[in-house]
Amino acid sequence: MTFFENTLKQIKETASVMKLNKDVEAVLSSPKRIVEVSIPLRRDNGDMEVLRGYRVQHCDAPGPFKGGIRFHPQVDLDEVKALATLMTFKCAVVGIPLGGGKGGIALDPRSYSATELEKITRKYVELIEPVIGEDRDVPAPDVNTDSRIMAWFADEYCRLQKRHVPGVVTGKPLSFGGSLGRSDATSLGGVFILNEVMAKFSMTPRDTKVIIQGFGNAGANMAGILFEQGYNVIGVSDSKGGIYCEKGFNPEDVVQCKAEKTTVYECVPVVNEGNTCKRVSNEELLEMPCDVLVLAALENQITEKNADRVKAKVVLELANGPTSPEADEILAKKEIIVIPDILANAGGVTVSYFEMVQNKQNYYWTLEEVRARLKQIMVDSWKDVAEIKEKYGCSYRRAAFIKAFDRLQKAIIDRGWV
Ligand code: NAD
Repeated sequence: MTFFENTLKQIKETASVMKLNKDVEAVLSSPKRIVEVSIPLRRDNGDMEVLRGYRVQHCDAPGPFKGGIRFHPQVDLDEVKALATLMTFKCAVVGIPLGGGKGGIALDPRSYSATELEKITRKYVELIEPVIGEDRDVPAPDVNTDSRIMAWFADEYCRLQKRHVPGVVTGKPLSFGGSLGRSDATSLGGVFILNEVMAKFSMTPRDTKVIIQGFGNAGANMAGILFEQGYNVIGVSDSKGGIYCEKGFNPEDVVQCKAEKTTVYECVPVVNEGNTCKRVSNEELLEMPCDVLVLAALENQITEKNADRVKAKVVLELANGPTSPEADEILAKKEIIVIPDILANAGGVTVSYFEMVQNKQNYYWTLEEVRARLKQIMVDSWKDVAEIKEKYGCSYRRAAFIKAFDRLQKAIIDRGWV
């Protein structure tokens, strides 16, 4: 099954459990608008290349479309449709007045210079300009895109519009309308949820061994915050492979080492002092003994092929769609608690929403304000989802979908769409 087919399966099953209005189910099963663009690029060496880009707008019943832009060779329409759909549900789980969208360009950013990446970003903005805007569709960073790319994005849009509208995109640098607390918001939101899970299952950070797959914005920040809060981080990985240390390590050492050596598995000697550390493959890391496995890389990482070998007690999905529906069933049989993406990683879009609010007001909040508001939203959303789980006797994923669909159903019916 493809990623989008998996998402449709979740929609169908949830609709049946909660007896969702059939017409609402139909609206939620099909993205509202799909834009596919060809991006011509004159490379630094004079060669010409044409790249494929997408923007999918899934549903804007609660508010403007919202969702990141991914630069990755695996980007295709199926993936972007699935991610746009999950964005609608994510915003509804945390109750922010936004819908869902997603964009991407199929490319490996490591093969392009900064000048080329800037040209690609600006051309992409020009091509999707008619369908985006601060009250229409607001993109954000995702895999391999960052505040620098968001600044080019916003600057190009302002140029085309001939007015100052930094609110067309979030995740911008602070110098250009960014919000304090956006860069680690996804991870901090995940930590707020994990702390609630710990309290519910009487686990303490000190006795909790954590493995994190993916060491980018979401994964590396998560590792750092968990370490600061006393969790024992024992394994991390990036696309090249991972490291595993029985006694745990300070992830900041790996951040510094990775900046120099470019991969985490080159960092074993740095963390090995007084420890037993080894290199492991990505596949092995997912199956190592631990209490919490944080998935912070890409979709489809735990499938029917490896789910049976997962040894964690809790799987926290910071990535979007990292667990397939078949794997979900296997993990449930093993009584492994899965905290779903649309709840666990919603901190990012929540602070993106705060950034939009601050851009509109042209008045900026302190870091303390951002974090306090984020905590309140994440903890309240967790409580709602946990309550629905008890009521329906279902998984946390199903409960999060039910919460989202309940809210979306109201908006879709109130607006007279069905
Ligand atoms: P990123 O590009 O900063 O980092 C991705 C990391 O995953 C990199 O370290 C990369 O090497 C690693 N990786 C790629 N393939 C891997 C593999 N097979 N095994 C192990 N590691 C692998 O991206 P990010 O922003 O951290 O996003 C990671 C995930 O979190 C994505 O699914 C994204 O959609 C999701 N997410 C991100 C945000 C955000 O605010 N950045 C918000 C919500 C969800």
